[in-house]
Amino acid sequence: MAHRARKRFGQNFLTDSTVVGRIVDAIDPQPDDLVVEIGPGQAALTQPLADSGAELVLVEIDRDLAAQLRKRFAGRQNVQVREGDALQLDFHALTGGRRFRLAGNLPYNISTPLLFHVLGWSDHVRDMHFMLQQEVVRRMAATPGGKAWGRLSLMCQYHCAVTPLFDVPPEAFTPAPRVHSSIVRLVPHESPPVRIDDMAAFEETVSRAFSQRRKTLRNSLRGRIDPGAMEAAGIDPGARPETLGLAEFAELSRWWGKTG
Ligand code: SAM
Repeated sequence: MAHRARKRFGQNFLTDSTVVGRIVDAIDPQPDDLVVEIGPGQAALTQPLADSGAELVLVEIDRDLAAQLRKRFAGRQNVQVREGDALQLDFHALTGGRRFRLAGNLPYNISTPLLFHVLGWSDHVRDMHFMLQQEVVRRMAATPGGKAWGRLSLMCQYHCAVTPLFDVPPEAFTPAPRVHSSIVRLVPHESPPVRIDDMAAFEETVSRAFSQRRKTLRNSLRGRIDPGAMEAAGIDPGARPETLGLAEFAELSRWWGKTG
């Protein structure tokens, strides 16, 4: 029976074979790769990935689709289907601690939390190729100074080199989403681009600074980071958060909680 797309699972299935081909070419799967695909859906990307001979682990939350995938790939030794929520995934358990590649046309309704979740596994990942809303990819790859620069840019760029690859129009999907999409490649850094000793303090600093992006750092970080410490670190307390780069946020976060 034909599957009816479920909105709550962000189901927009890729139906344009040219786009599928371009994505799979960008991933360039090899027979000795271990690829985890998030949200395989009706197997638009999965089939060519499986045909490459790569070892594939599929994680699909929709029970009906997981059952269809199990049936479709029953005879394939290189394909495993896991029914579950990618947001809860313990990738170490899933892959037996092996280094893996990640791919997926991600459900847009949970794209940001899902990105934060997978970034936490960057040490185990060779690379990631995702389809996301164009606007999210712009934020991931943004540079300081503009509107798109923020928490997502900083977290992605601390962990990975971010390369937007190409855009995909709504007509490439059924049902068509309301937004344009883009393919992005994330390659985890061999060593971090800046030193961050306390990740929780860095995350808190970034999150609070951008929670009201029109406020100055002095105001948004009041009670958390002393303006005198900002000045000593060479950061203007009167600056707005979007003017600071990754290195400056790393420096600022060293003073988190030290209010004198
Ligand atoms: N890969 C397919 C394609 O390109 O046509 C489907 C992409 S569709 C945008 C997103 C897929 O992710 C759906 O199959 C949906 O059921 C699945 N999904 C949604 N939330 C999920 C979650 N939390 N964990 C795993 N899969 C999820």
